[in-house]
Amino acid sequence: MSITITGQDTLQKFIFDNAAVRGELIDISATWREVLSRHEYPVAVKKLLGQMTAAAALLSANLKFNGSIIMQIHGDGPVRLLVVECDAELRLRATAKLNPDLAIADDANLTTLLNPHGNGRFIITLDPLDKMPGQQPYQGVVPLDGDDVATVIENYMLRSEQLDTKLWLAADDNVSRGLLLQKLPHHGGKAEATPVSEEDALETWNRAVMLGSTLKEQELLDTGIEVLMQRLFWEETIRVFDPQHPQFHCSCTREKVGNMLKMLGREEVESVIAELGHVGVNCDFCGQHYEYDKVDCAQLFVSNDPVEALLPAGEVKH
Ligand SMILES: [Zn+2]
Repeated sequence: MSITITGQDTLQKFIFDNAAVRGELIDISATWREVLSRHEYPVAVKKLLGQMTAAAALLSANLKFNGSIIMQIHGDGPVRLLVVECDAELRLRATAKLNPDLAIADDANLTTLLNPHGNGRFIITLDPLDKMPGQQPYQGVVPLDGDDVATVIENYMLRSEQLDTKLWLAADDNVSRGLLLQKLPHHGGKAEATPVSEEDALETWNRAVMLGSTLKEQELLDTGIEVLMQRLFWEETIRVFDPQHPQFHCSCTREKVGNMLKMLGREEVESVIAELGHVGVNCDFCGQHYEYDKVDCAQLFVSNDPVEALLPAGEVKH
């Protein structure tokens, strides 16, 4: 068993020499432990959410897009929602919402947790950093097609993006790692010094997937990605790019929470104030507590100014 208590997370992109296949290996264990330090989840939920955390970073790093990727699974069983957000700088946060009335077995899988009645949904949202005026984020919604996170994403990528993608994901309460392989769209090799035929490209893809398929879940949990790279692809000619470093970050602010209260509506907020004397909100992702007294709430509904402008500097933690 590998126990890495500290250290930086690493995402390693690489490409097969004939440019037919690209890959990424990720060790996102430190970020994942940051997520877990803020939540108490059953074993089976940790496994799924940890895998989604690795997958979100892997997909995000591959996008030709500057913005955030939000990956959600909406469930109709013991788990209502799994969410992972990853921004353009590979900063991530994740959370789960459980149904408090339903027990969760340690060996429960994605179907029993999120799709027992067939109404589960996988949703990917791409939210551009610099939106044009009136531009909405792109959202893809598909049924849960598969019994595990990797299969659901592979099917989504093939059907929605026409990209052959294979994922190997593993997570427990300490480690989260993953491997992604993707067949690059064929351009007839025009951009390459040595043109590659569609046949050669397909052969490279098949060989890469076969090598990837030798990777077992426990091996992925137990082995660092540098060793895995060697072990899996030592016979291949591979170009390796500069590593990237994902990290935990929650984007919640007092202003955003204030806007959420505004959306709840004056009546709702005032009824909580009348009952409790204040409104307290905890961030679902990081647990940060935000509190609004009667004066704060009154200000929310009279002013269009950012809520933070009403507070002395330094009061907002983050
Ligand atoms: Zn937060």
